[in-house]
Amino acid sequence: MIVRNVLALAGDGIGPEVLLATRRVMDWFQSTGRAKFNVSEGLIGGASYDAHQTPLTDETVARAKAADAVLFACIGGPKWDQLPYDVRPEKGLLRLRKEMGLFANLRPAIVMDALASASSLKTDLVRGLDIMIVRELIGGIYFGEPRGVEQLADGTRRGYNTQAYSTAEILRIAHVAFELARKRGKRVCSVDKANVMESGLVWREEITKLRNSTYPDVELSHMYVDNCAMQLVRTPKQFDVIVTDNLFGDILSDLASMLTGSLGMLPSASLGAIGADGRQPALYEPVHGSAPDIAGKGIANPLAMVLSLAMMLRYSFSLGKDADLLERAVQNVLSAGVRTGDIAEPGQIPIGTTAMADAVIAELTRLAK
Ligand code: NAD
Repeated sequence: MIVRNVLALAGDGIGPEVLLATRRVMDWFQSTGRAKFNVSEGLIGGASYDAHQTPLTDETVARAKAADAVLFACIGGPKWDQLPYDVRPEKGLLRLRKEMGLFANLRPAIVMDALASASSLKTDLVRGLDIMIVRELIGGIYFGEPRGVEQLADGTRRGYNTQAYSTAEILRIAHVAFELARKRGKRVCSVDKANVMESGLVWREEITKLRNSTYPDVELSHMYVDNCAMQLVRTPKQFDVIVTDNLFGDILSDLASMLTGSLGMLPSASLGAIGADGRQPALYEPVHGSAPDIAGKGIANPLAMVLSLAMMLRYSFSLGKDADLLERAVQNVLSAGVRTGDIAEPGQIPIGTTAMADAVIAELTRLAK
């Protein structure tokens, strides 16, 4: 059996707790002979700063690049809020994404039946929701040059950033979206602001050309980002795959995540280009932050990270059946009313991080019989 090398980065706050829970689920897959992992751990964020005065060391970057996949929890916290920007915990994650060339961020927004009532929208609008948001992650306005703050002659200041996308950057993210759509509902909605931005116009034209030349079997529609935000809360089930740039994707994916009810449930994957050796850089992480308010209490919901593991099984290791099994186990546990505090409904007694991992493992064992 292939040994999969995984670098696990716990980071800060609740990171070590949710990673521990997830590693126990990985152990179940190993002990039942379904997969073989060689897991090593490293530091990132505040934990790395405390040890090495940098949120990410070159050594950790090298280990991440050499791994088959990186499993990352979360970084940040008040302890490091006063540090200069270039050594803040967040810088560690941004650098890791850039160094690994992770240009495609996949954020599923799936509403599990048992949690449909936790959504801020009416239950019938979200029941059965299954959207995949594909966000460009290492280009656009967050990285564009020139950028800066300039002092003006009148003593005031001017801050500026640059939004720019090249054909190559657009095509590589579009390929990811079209390929995903082929395995789902065969529909892609591309989101831009082509009515007022030249970068949006190029985005729209390049994606249309690619669809016509290579993906005629996939339906392509275009939407302005302001309309998309409205449509996501009006009739979210109209979407299958949404592809968009870094800035719009940042905002829309957070918006879509709230349709599903809880931050503690949301996984994500970030993928790079497939290399000549057939390997694809990949990092899997929950959407939530380090939750300093509950860190160390043993009450964090580990399911976002457990579901990130399911994405890792599916996208990095081609273990789709095992990913399905894990997702089904999570659904069944929730349907049985097992809840951590963040997703507990009135009358449900919340359990802790370890007990939630135990419940998922027990359900995996039952399903696998
Ligand atoms: P957060 O996601 O950490 O927490 C928001 C709220 O959701 C909190 O009340 C928290 O207790 C709760 N929550 C989050 N995850 C949970 C879980 N798994 N189980 C139960 N409850 C959960 O966001 P924040 O409070 O805005 O940020 C806290 C720190 O995390 C900051 O330093 C921020 O910069 C950092 N952050 C990191 C990432 C990341 O690592 N990718 C993402 C967002 C924020």
